Amino acid sequence: MNKKQKIYNKLLELVKEENVKVDEMLKDHLYTKLGGKADFFITPTSYEEIQNVVKLSNEDNIPFTLLGNGSNLIIKDGGIRGIVINLKHLDTIYSEGNTVVAQSGARIIDASRYALDKNLSGLEFACGIPGTVGGALYMNAGAYGGEIKDVLDYAFVVDKQGNLVKRLAAELDLDYRTSNISANGDIVVEATFHLKPANYEDIKEVMDDLTYKRESKQPLEYPSCGSVFKRPPGYFAGKLIQDSDLQGTNIGGAEVSKKHAGFIINKDNATTSDYISLIEHVQKTVKEKFGVDLEREVRIIGDDKD
Ligand SMILES: Cc1cc2nc3c(=O)[nH]c(=O)nc-3n(C[C@H](O)[C@H](O)[C@H](O)COP(=O)(O)OP(=O)(O)OC[C@H]3O[C@@H](n4cnc5c(N)ncnc54)[C@H](O)[C@@H]3O)c2cc1C
Repeated sequence: MNKKQKIYNKLLELVKEENVKVDEMLKDHLYTKLGGKADFFITPTSYEEIQNVVKLSNEDNIPFTLLGNGSNLIIKDGGIRGIVINLKHLDTIYSEGNTVVAQSGARIIDASRYALDKNLSGLEFACGIPGTVGGALYMNAGAYGGEIKDVLDYAFVVDKQGNLVKRLAAELDLDYRTSNISANGDIVVEATFHLKPANYEDIKEVMDDLTYKRESKQPLEYPSCGSVFKRPPGYFAGKLIQDSDLQGTNIGGAEVSKKHAGFIINKDNATTSDYISLIEHVQKTVKEKFGVDLEREVRIIGDDKD
């Protein structure tokens, strides 16, 4: 029996058969519609299953990677070795008093809508962010003046030893589009947000306004991974790119959006290397023109194609 078959058999002892896939095409799970295959793609249905998979990964030295909604990731064409864990089956959302509790496979948009239905204010900023709760914590996602850091009370994570641990928001080092979740090797499984009671119509008005702004300014009609670059101190990435005359520039099928300069869209069957080359071209041009380093917000992972 080869090594891959052995790992598959071990995974079947931990996760239901229908939730273990081999050689899964990751582009089907990514907003950019790009990326190679995962050796194993699993969708656990309980925290215990996740814990057991982490323990297997430690014992047998098999790497694992978390994949949320794939809205802030570029995965290279060679794909990902080891196990990709996706928590789409863990998507329960409920409320207790003024808190909303969401499992990390739930969409943050759904948590935002759920809070609206419960007349709770604080998650309006997230009403158009297309990630999961887990991905939103990992990135400390934010928009229009709000961010996860403002509303997160605590999270439950599976740590790198496979233990289920509570982490207070203050322990996660949440900062501008970053946290220590990756450095700690944590898997976020659940988040508790503290919100404030408010009038349904008032919350809805804010969400409708933010949705209008988003839809009118962002190229949502094309696959993309949102804003590619972080805001450099004292500047706006989009403005620097616009002033560098880069809008409409393309490499292969990837193009700097004409609608929002901070977005790179997959306009016409782009490859991951088209995308990465265009990101580097934008960084180089902005550096030459304005002396500013654009740091990527989007994560690039995976293997190059052989
Ligand atoms: C059209 C568009 C608009 C966007 N607008 C915004 C915006 O306004 N504000 C904003 O902040 N972002 C925005 N984004 C980016 C993106 O939606 C956010 O960063 C989001 O939080 C990513 O969540 P995800 O589930 O898609 O994560 P993924 O892209 O799947 O993963 C991102 C990172 O999180 C890790 N991760 C995912 N789940 C877990 C978990 N459970 N435990 C540990 N690690 C995990 C992954 O390993 C990866 O490193 C936008 C993207 C798009 C495509």
